[in-house]
Amino acid sequence: MEIKANPEPFKIKMVEPIKKISRKEREEALKRGGYNLFALKSEEVYIDLLTDSGTGAMSDNQWSGLMLGDESYAGSKSFYHLWETSREIFGHNYFVPTHQGRGAEQVLFPLLIKKPGQYVLSNMHFDTTKAHVELAKGKPVDLVIEEALDTDTYHPFKGNFDLEKLESFILDKGSNSIAFIIITITCNSSGGQPVSMQNIRQVSEIANKYGIRVFLDAARYAENAYFIKQREKEYFEKSIEEIVKEMFSYADGFTMSAKKDAIVNIGGLIGIKEDEALFNQVKAALVPLEGFPTYGGLAGRDMEVMARGLKEGIQFDYLDYRIKQVKYLGDRLKEGGVPIQYPTGGHAVFVDAKKMLPHIPYYQFPAQALANALYLESGVRGVEVGSLMMGRDPQTGEQLESPFEFLRLAIPRRVYTYTHLDYVAEGLLAVKNISNSLKGLEFTYEPEILRHFTGRLKPVE
Ligand SMILES: *Cc1c(COP(=O)(O)O)cnc(C)c1O
Repeated sequence: MEIKANPEPFKIKMVEPIKKISRKEREEALKRGGYNLFALKSEEVYIDLLTDSGTGAMSDNQWSGLMLGDESYAGSKSFYHLWETSREIFGHNYFVPTHQGRGAEQVLFPLLIKKPGQYVLSNMHFDTTKAHVELAKGKPVDLVIEEALDTDTYHPFKGNFDLEKLESFILDKGSNSIAFIIITITCNSSGGQPVSMQNIRQVSEIANKYGIRVFLDAARYAENAYFIKQREKEYFEKSIEEIVKEMFSYADGFTMSAKKDAIVNIGGLIGIKEDEALFNQVKAALVPLEGFPTYGGLAGRDMEVMARGLKEGIQFDYLDYRIKQVKYLGDRLKEGGVPIQYPTGGHAVFVDAKKMLPHIPYYQFPAQALANALYLESGVRGVEVGSLMMGRDPQTGEQLESPFEFLRLAIPRRVYTYTHLDYVAEGLLAVKNISNSLKGLEFTYEPEILRHFTGRLKPVE
């Protein structure tokens, strides 16, 4: 008989106790936090699926690397270890570390956006990516395929660019009005959905035709490579390493949050394939914002564990376990009648709150109502990815309608077991039974930029 169970490819050497507070305490915490789960104390959360960013468990190999970190201000040995590892994995020539992904964005984007009002084209911008494009006076445009918007129907690569829309946008606006193209792999905002190799290649061909540069927003590049190996016929026999190299070969450079697939608690990276002039500009801009180019806002030990984490994050057995664990939660929810973005993506299950709470309009943030209900019911913390996160039109001030209203349940790497996920599924199924009674939300305090992090809300009467 074939063994089907898919156990963790590690054993647990150190544990961190977790505890569930009472329902009454959760009610009070929610009220005190302005119905914004970012305002909770972590001790008020039982199972924390707010994000997979910086929340992974490091390996014994990484922990031992901490002790070997070289804290020299300039020329740190750990920096060179990170550099050599990055070169080997990504095949680009130049790298600088940054304190995290948004640090990379803040340094690189103003160098690429030459005139106010230039467009930046993406499959879908991540929230800080969008914010840094706007801070640099660029205009972010999302051009993901239509199939991504249909959460019920299977498509192997729901992160793909709509190539027709991409080319007609370029023709319509003129290539001079476009600062650069950024491909988010995997596409976080459409549900951690992968982009196919063919699509990456075709985007780069279109970009080359019009003289536009292509960058990767590469936070979950390893998960994207895994999906290519599983779903794209030409790559079934290729190794993750080969697939990663090919993906990056189509880009002029990349920004990366190392807090995802590099399995570190803090860190980021900018890579530049071969443009030495751009690399020099990056180094000059880096110093006042992040730090000297051989530390970029990180301690030497952080660079050492990032170098080790990059290697661990592309191991096939680890990726296979990880993606299957996410799928397991998705399958349990789907079987229980909870609508999700299907198929499940790499790092999270995205629950379709638009379908689950059709009585709450987008401007009353259905996915936030769902996130709050799940917390109240079970102590599980997820996050809204929808109109609350999307915010207002910077020109008109109007509330934008997000194409999705998702409750994202992000799975930290190597942290929770299958039993934790069973608990999460049961919590959400309990919420499903009371979904008709849930109420929308409105702001009592609304910050202008990235309001979903610090804003305060109250239930609509
Ligand atoms: C997390 C993330 C970022 C930003 O990185 P931080 O490390 O959180 O600053 C950018 N893009 C994507 C796709 C991300 O997931």
